[in-house]
Amino acid sequence: MTTTAEKINLLGMSQGALEQFLVERGGKPFHARQLLQWIYQRDVDDFDAMTDLSKSLRRRLREDAEISAPEVQAKFTSRDGTVKWLFSSGAGQSVETVFIPEARRGTLCISSQVGCALDCSFCATGAQGFNRNLTSAEIIGQVRHAIRELPRRENGEAAVTNVVFMGMGEPLANYRNLVPVLNLLVSDWSYGLSRRRVTVSTSGIVPHIDKLGDDCNVALAVSLHAASDELRDQLVPINKMHPIGQLLESCWRYAAKRSNRFITFEYVMLRGVNDSIEQADQLARLLQGRAAKVNLIPFNPFPGTGFKRSSVATIRHFQSRLREKGLVATTRRTRGDDINAACGQLAGKVSDRVRTRLGQRKINRKSIGEKSMRTASA
Ligand code: SAH
Ligand code: SF4
Repeated sequence: MTTTAEKINLLGMSQGALEQFLVERGGKPFHARQLLQWIYQRDVDDFDAMTDLSKSLRRRLREDAEISAPEVQAKFTSRDGTVKWLFSSGAGQSVETVFIPEARRGTLCISSQVGCALDCSFCATGAQGFNRNLTSAEIIGQVRHAIRELPRRENGEAAVTNVVFMGMGEPLANYRNLVPVLNLLVSDWSYGLSRRRVTVSTSGIVPHIDKLGDDCNVALAVSLHAASDELRDQLVPINKMHPIGQLLESCWRYAAKRSNRFITFEYVMLRGVNDSIEQADQLARLLQGRAAKVNLIPFNPFPGTGFKRSSVATIRHFQSRLREKGLVATTRRTRGDDINAACGQLAGKVSDRVRTRLGQRKINRKSIGEKSMRTASA
């Protein structure tokens, strides 16, 4: 990331903050809309090229502001067309972004933190520990870079039609920087994506789910992975703080705020751990009759993991059982595994600041951002 100490980075700044910034420099609130269009729709970094702003405002912007995005360190392309970028997050560290092209859409999977504190036992990012939150500029910079670099779709649309927060990190643990980015993704003055095409995936930080429903109710995916607290406590340790009952209640509240749109429940298929027919029945009992669909994710291995992927037949049976019980259930196709870009394989380069000893990290409210959320909502 190139930064100039005294200049303010406008990338990732909310419309409200931009308006204030401009008014303080002799501009009008509506100039923020023009600036958003220049930055996100026309992909312009140079204030001098923003010809519908007055000369004096452009000069003030040149003096006080910059548009600074994270730098790309490496790019990999999978044999299935998936693209992965490694973005520098400073101090020799990096985060990863993945583009998954499909016939009817192009999905960009973006990162929200350098590492992750939540330590889910089957996740490569969790195994690395947590270093820091990404800034809003670093998060939206991933989207801007992908759109800049990827060729447009045949119908002239930008390559990125959907954005999912399923890369490195827990987005709801970086709530303060997440919300401006969500608003920029859906605003007509910037990317103008429909709320249904922006998905926040969370391992279940309950108070933030409730808040997100009010602040920017985009599509929600919840990493459930187990239907009993006993097993989920082991796989997704945040469950000890926010157990399944509380988590599901917050999901149904969220769905109600979005006029009953479906919540997606992600369920990683781990051989001999959570993939029996009894466990499918248990899962169905939790979700039956609700605004829920299940997305089964075949486990993607990474070095050092003790878990194994369930067989194709087991995954098929599990999915059929859920469907017999009346649930909508799909299985995610594994993409980009030859470049380590599949779900849960993203590892970037992280120097852990939270963990004291491998596997013995304590998750505290501060490292998952709950303290900062209380401050933000106070
Ligand atoms: N922190 C957020 C989003 C990032 S992870 C979350 O946990 O939801 C995106 C998805 O990949 C989550 O459902 C996560 O549980 C899943 N995942 C993590 N490791 C995986 C692995 N090794 N194989 C398959 N899916 C994995
Ligand atoms: Fe963090 Fe999500 Fe990985 Fe869990 S699955 S460690 S919450 S990134």
